[in-house]
Amino acid sequence: MRSIVGDANVLTDPDAMAGYLTDWMGRYHGHADAVIRPRTTAEVADVVGECAAQRIRICVQGGNTGLVGGSVPPPEAPGDDGLILLSTARMTDIDDVDEVGATVGAQAGATIAAIDARAESVGLMFPVDLASRESATAGGVVSTNAGGVRMIRHGNTRAQILGIEAVRADGQVLRRWSPLVKDNVGYDIPGLLAGSEGTLAVITGVLFRLVTAASATVVLVAAHDRVDDAIALIGQAREAGLTVEAAELMTQAGLDLVHEHGTRRPVATPAPYYLLLEVSGAGDPEELVVDLLENGTGIVDAVLEPGPARALWEVRESHTESIARSTTTPVVKLDVSFPIRELPAAVTELEALPGELDFACRPILFGHVGDGNVHVNLLDVPVEHTTEVTDRVFTIVAGHGGSISAEHGIGRAKTAWTHLGRSPVDLAAMRAIKDALDPDGLLNPGVIFG
Ligand SMILES: Cc1cc2nc3c(=O)[nH]c(=O)nc-3n(C[C@H](O)[C@H](O)[C@H](O)COP(=O)(O)OP(=O)(O)OC[C@H]3O[C@@H](n4cnc5c(N)ncnc54)[C@H](O)[C@@H]3O)c2cc1C
Repeated sequence: MRSIVGDANVLTDPDAMAGYLTDWMGRYHGHADAVIRPRTTAEVADVVGECAAQRIRICVQGGNTGLVGGSVPPPEAPGDDGLILLSTARMTDIDDVDEVGATVGAQAGATIAAIDARAESVGLMFPVDLASRESATAGGVVSTNAGGVRMIRHGNTRAQILGIEAVRADGQVLRRWSPLVKDNVGYDIPGLLAGSEGTLAVITGVLFRLVTAASATVVLVAAHDRVDDAIALIGQAREAGLTVEAAELMTQAGLDLVHEHGTRRPVATPAPYYLLLEVSGAGDPEELVVDLLENGTGIVDAVLEPGPARALWEVRESHTESIARSTTTPVVKLDVSFPIRELPAAVTELEALPGELDFACRPILFGHVGDGNVHVNLLDVPVEHTTEVTDRVFTIVAGHGGSISAEHGIGRAKTAWTHLGRSPVDLAAMRAIKDALDPDGLLNPGVIFG
């Protein structure tokens, strides 16, 4: 490995490796014999090829902001073969933007913030955006098929991929790199790698499409007594002729928590539910928003600001960090989705869940509700009750026809519950794909399949 990436990029000292072996939440801790930090695709190919020859397992890591434990290796078990953590931290190159085609190529370790800044420098926008933007990487968002705050407008990460470069488990480089929007020659391999969580190949580069940002946006936060009224405001905004750029649900408990950690409250009147909407529209969107707030159902207080309205967004975006800082045990963080019509009943059931448990815990719900996505966070759950609580949440999800993973993936956290989202035949097809592309099971062992 040292001869491939250089001495400085093979870490074996426990202190130097520690940060790579624990996930963002501090919930998952793993073991690796070394952390390897390649700089180029050729180096990745050599590293992976050498691992294949010696049957060494590989855990792939980008920004390590994943929330399902997939970015860190499993703990050491007796009889295990060797395992390296392959970090893309040094693979940060971003190509010049093709302004005519509205595309940009990036190495896997380039951060979302850096790719967006490159797009913005020519008046375009990278359509995937999430609160972890300063650390989350191109390879990470593709591997998790991240959603994020702009999904309601532009689709998930899979929808932004035009081309991909990846190293297969045997070390061969697969490059399908074409700006063609129409190109139906066989299977959609870039689409397959989206959401594969490092189990099928190591992504080394991505060719993304870019979009034009809305010229003027308005951000509003509306406080509601009823969750169905909060959710209905999204449809009312569309009926009023506005384009919904983002739609986020928050609760009083979440606002209290972020306020305790220094974020100001958006409105004076407290209410159980808050909807943050970012909208655009032809003409003067602010006028339409004022009308919307006057006529919207069940609004008890509201505030609006011209975009980007960072202070209003901070209320939403500081949730994840405030939760991590406040919980007394590793947070039980479940990212689920529901059919939109089921959301009000599902949210009510999820909020009532702690009252049915034999121990105290605090629920904080928030999320990209316009996509039916709710992030369920249960704080202070005694560690021995994690599985029970997860089971209870997923039972509610299944009862409403929802998904146990909206956008974070399966990782190590949810492998026991994939049967709730996929039939046996479907799971067998997934397993056959994994076996075909990684016959020795060297890539991200324990992720998705357990
Ligand atoms: C504050 C905060 C907010 C967040 N908000 C959102 C959100 O709105 N929407 C959302 O979807 N997620 C969100 N996340 C989760 C996380 O940021 C995303 O899952 C992100 O896509 C992970 O990117 P990463 O580079 O950090 O990947 P990592 O965490 O390093 O890895 C995630 C998975 O991808 C695999 N992987 C990483 N790089 C590669 C590669 N080059 N090749 C193959 N496999 C690879 C890893 O093995 C792992 O399975 C949030 C996280 C935080 C901390």
